[in-house]
Amino acid sequence: MQCLKAFLCDGPEKCDITEIPESRPAPGEVKLKILYAGICGSDFGIIHGRNPFASFPLVPGHEFCGEVIESEASNLDIGQRVVVMPVMGCGKCSSCREGNVNRCPKVKLYGVHLNGGFAEKVVVKASQAIPFPDSLDPKYAVFTEPLAVGIHCVRRGDVKVNNDVAIIGGGVIGLTIASMASFYGAKRVLISDIVPQRLQKAKALGINLTVQENEEGIVKFSRKLGLNFDVVFDTVGSEQSLEDSLNLLKPGGKLVLVAVPKGGKKPIGLAKLFAEEKVFTASRTYTMEDFKKALSLIVSGDFRPEKLITHYFPFDKIQEALFTAEHEKDKALKVVLKIEN
Ligand SMILES: [Zn+2]
Ligand SMILES: [Zn+2]
Repeated sequence: MQCLKAFLCDGPEKCDITEIPESRPAPGEVKLKILYAGICGSDFGIIHGRNPFASFPLVPGHEFCGEVIESEASNLDIGQRVVVMPVMGCGKCSSCREGNVNRCPKVKLYGVHLNGGFAEKVVVKASQAIPFPDSLDPKYAVFTEPLAVGIHCVRRGDVKVNNDVAIIGGGVIGLTIASMASFYGAKRVLISDIVPQRLQKAKALGINLTVQENEEGIVKFSRKLGLNFDVVFDTVGSEQSLEDSLNLLKPGGKLVLVAVPKGGKKPIGLAKLFAEEKVFTASRTYTMEDFKKALSLIVSGDFRPEKLITHYFPFDKIQEALFTAEHEKDKALKVVLKIEN
């Protein structure tokens, strides 16, 4: 039997590079040689057993691009480079029919429910494999997925020209939202984090308003400057960050929850939501439209992934790469595996 090298999780804390049997594409599928795969914070939920949706044994990795090496689909030829849209809906429910596959009750992701990109090769549905031109270096195409998250957030928040926007949390997602909010015309963008190096990164990206969370607190900082916001994105999801987010909003403003909420014993201030007609909403992954928009912004050069990708590691060094992504938050933003040698 033909085998391939993959980072396989047999269960929580039981993940390592091993040989797994190679499968063949069925009609409508393609086999990819994986070129690059990004490491996401949510991968640690799978590795440490905190993600209830992960179905073991599993090859994680939902941010990946590759080259078609076998094709059972008429629209994709061998040699075509593609980035994989990992989110799949049932195709039948009302959310799927409206194009909101991310809301499907039966949603499945490559790298969470099905084998993903931390491997030499993978078989995926051709409909999820989005081609990109050879002129785009695949080391940047791999950033399509996190950028799609940021685009979906900004769409959920309905950020308009001259809006003032605040973002709690300056990780990859927070920084991506900040740069997309600016791209869609936001006037002032404020970002907060507890890690000072991330705020320096935000400044390097052109975001001038930053606040270090444990020093001053974003609400106090904003009051001092007389700032309140049309849209606030909470990428942390703690009771404190949700309360801060509501307090930062203008009357009629919109709070977008981006993280899975933690705790949740303390009720949010519904009386205040009502009195000031504030809107509370959420943003979960992205749609195919967001994903294609993200890829087009990388192809056109309107978004430059090199600003947020801090590390590339060879596949054999995956344990080191995971350690860097999880524990070296003062240095690492997006950490990427270069899979093909
Ligand atoms: Zn991710
Ligand atoms: Zn569905």
